[in-house]
Amino acid sequence: MPTYEYECTSCGHRFEKFQSITAAPVKRCPNCGKKVKRLFGTGGGLIFKGSGFYTTDYRSEGYKRAAKAEAAAHSSKTGTAGDRGTKTDGKEKN
Ligand SMILES: [Zn+2]
Repeated sequence: MPTYEYECTSCGHRFEKFQSITAAPVKRCPNCGKKVKRLFGTGGGLIFKGSGFYTTDYRSEGYKRAAKAEAAAHSSKTGTAGDRGTKTDGKEKN
């Protein structure tokens, strides 16, 4: 079932209606009750969603963060960070 997008000709309210092809189109605005027109071209988002560069970019970013966290955990485990215990406690409240 396709999703139809409507726009009110009176108040400009936009909404989507998920309905079958045989169903009667929406004629009234749920916001003000005036006439609405059906918009086309809502399927354009599917083209953008289909391209894989966004997913790839997201994955590489996540991989970098995971690798960084792993490296930090590794260094803290092997390094001797015992001397840095009192670093932020020097600021006293008067
Ligand atoms: Zn309206």
